[in-house]
Amino acid sequence: MPTLKLILGDQLNPQHSWFAHPSDEVIFVLMEIRSETDYVLHHAQKIIAIFAAMRDFAAQLQAQGHRVDYLKIDDPNNQQQFGKNLSALITHYQACAVHYQVPDEYRLDAQLAEYAQGATVAMTMVSSEHFYTERDDAAQLFAGRKNWLMETFYRHMRVKHGVLLDAQQQPVGGKWNFDHDNRKPWRGVPLEPQDLRIRHDHRALWASITAAGIASFGAPNAAHFAWPLNRREALQQLAAFIEQGLLHFGDFQDAMSRHANRLFHSQLSFALNVKMLSPVEVVNAVVEATAHDEQIPLAACEGFVRQILGWREYVRGVYWANMPSYVEHNFFNHQRALPAWFWTGKTRMRCMANALDNSLQNAHAHHIQRLMVIGNFALLAGLNPQALHHWYLGVYIDAFEWVELPNTLGMSQFADGGKLATKPYVSAAAYIDRMSDYCSDCHYDKKLRIGATACPFNALYWDFFARNSDKLARNPRIGMVYPQLKKMDASALATLQAQAEIWRGNLDAL
Ligand code: FAD
Ligand code: SF4
Repeated sequence: MPTLKLILGDQLNPQHSWFAHPSDEVIFVLMEIRSETDYVLHHAQKIIAIFAAMRDFAAQLQAQGHRVDYLKIDDPNNQQQFGKNLSALITHYQACAVHYQVPDEYRLDAQLAEYAQGATVAMTMVSSEHFYTERDDAAQLFAGRKNWLMETFYRHMRVKHGVLLDAQQQPVGGKWNFDHDNRKPWRGVPLEPQDLRIRHDHRALWASITAAGIASFGAPNAAHFAWPLNRREALQQLAAFIEQGLLHFGDFQDAMSRHANRLFHSQLSFALNVKMLSPVEVVNAVVEATAHDEQIPLAACEGFVRQILGWREYVRGVYWANMPSYVEHNFFNHQRALPAWFWTGKTRMRCMANALDNSLQNAHAHHIQRLMVIGNFALLAGLNPQALHHWYLGVYIDAFEWVELPNTLGMSQFADGGKLATKPYVSAAAYIDRMSDYCSDCHYDKKLRIGATACPFNALYWDFFARNSDKLARNPRIGMVYPQLKKMDASALATLQAQAEIWRGNLDAL
C-alpha cells in the first residue's frame, strides 16, 4: 500500500528531502487542474510556465527512478479538483496515506485541510524546506507591537542568519541599509544586460490549454517562451544576473525606461516562487560574489539581499498573520472599476502604457513599475483594491497570493491602513519624470495640473491627500504635503479637485 505525495505547482524543489531516494512505496502526484487555473483570470504565460515546469519536474523525477502519476489538463481521468482527484488516486493505488508540503497560499491550505478532515486515509503536512522563516515567525517577532516595521524584521534576519555582518556582528560597511544610494535614474548607460534566458517552444502545450477552454489574457509568447523550466535553467539565470546585472542593480533599482524593461533586475522571482531556487542559495551566491569582486558595490549587494532576506520573508509573515480577512481591507473605501486599458495597455499616459505593455507582453514588470506607476495611479484614481489585487494576481508570472496580496493591498494601496507600509506610496508627475524617460514622450504635460493635456497624476495626487486628510494628516512620514495644502488657495484647491473629478469620471478615455 503506497503513500501518495502531492506536489503543488509552486513546489518544484528538486532538493527537497522527499526526492533523496526513489522508493516503490511512494507515488508522487502532480495535477493540472481547472480549480487552479480559474480562481482568477491568469496571464497566458503564467499558465504555460507552471504547467511546463511541472511537466519538466515530473519527467526528471521519473528519470531518477521515482514513481509519478501526472494528470494533464486534458486527461479524461482528471476531475479538475485536488480532492476529487486525490480520492480517485487513493482508490486506484489502494494508498495508505497522503503527504503534502505546506501550501503557501491560504486558498490551498484551506482546501487541503478541509479534504484532510473527511479523507479516508491519514493526511500529513510536511515542510516545503524553502523559506528562511516559518509562517508565524514574523508574528512572534512583532507580538504585541502595532507597527510591523520591515526594517526591524530585516535587521533581525541579518543577525539571525549571519548575513553581511562583520566579526563584531555589526553590519558590513557600517550601515544596515544603503537604500539612499540606490536611487539613480537610467539614461541609457551602462547598457542593459543581454537577455540570455533560454527560449522554449510551448506551442503544443498552449494549444492544449486553449483547447481545454481555459480563459486567459496577455501575450502567450508560446514560440519563444523565456521563463526557466527547471533548476538548471534557473541557476544559469542566477549566474548571468551575478555576472551582468548585480554590479548596477543598486544604482538603478528604482529607475524606469521605455527603452529597457528589465534594466538590472534579476527576473528570478518566478524561479524563486516555484522553489526551483532557494532564497538561501540566492542570497549566499550574491554575498559571496560581492566578497570576491571589489567592483560590485556593497550597496548593490545589500539592496538585493534586503529584497529576499527582508521583504520576501516579511510579506509572507504579514500574509499568514492576517489571513483570511486581510484580503477584505479597503481603508479608503475605493470602489472604482479598473479601466479597460488595464487589459490592453492602450492609454495615452506613457508611463502607464509602458508598464502595462511590459506586464501584458512579458507577464512581468519590475518593482517600481508595479509600485510607483500602476499602483500609484490605481490609488490616486480610487480603484477598488480587491479588483486590483485580482489583476496583479493574474498578470504576473511570479504572482502567488502570499507575496502578491501584501504587496498590492498593503504596500501599494495602503488598503490595510498602514499595517505594512508606513505611508501611501504615491507621487505626482515629478517623481515619475525624475526616475524615468516617460514624460518626454507623453501626450500629457508633466508640468501642468489643470486642463485637457495636464498630467492626470498631478491633480489626482493633491486631491488624494485633500480628500483623505482625516486619515493621513497626522502621519509623520507624509512630510510637507499637508503644510503645502494648507498654504494653497481655497479656489486653487477646488479647481484641482474638480480636475481630479473629471479624470476619475473618464478613466477609460485617459
Ligand atoms: P529583483 O528586483 O531582481 O529582486 C530580487 C528578488 O527579490 C525578487 O525576485 C523577489 O523574489 C524579491 N523581492 C523584491 N521585492 C520584493 C517584495 N516587495 N516582496 C517580496 N519579494 C520581493 N513579487 C512577487 O514575487 N510576486 C508578486 O506577485 C508580486 N507582486 C507585487 C505587487 C506589487 C503591487 C508590488 C509593488 C510588488 C510586487 N512584487 C511581487 C515584488 C516585486 O515587484 C517583484 O518580486 C519583482 O519585481 C520581481 O522581479 P525580479 O525577480 O526581477 O526582482
Ligand atoms: Fe505619466 Fe504624467 Fe509623465 Fe505622462 S506626464 S508619463 S502621465 S507622469
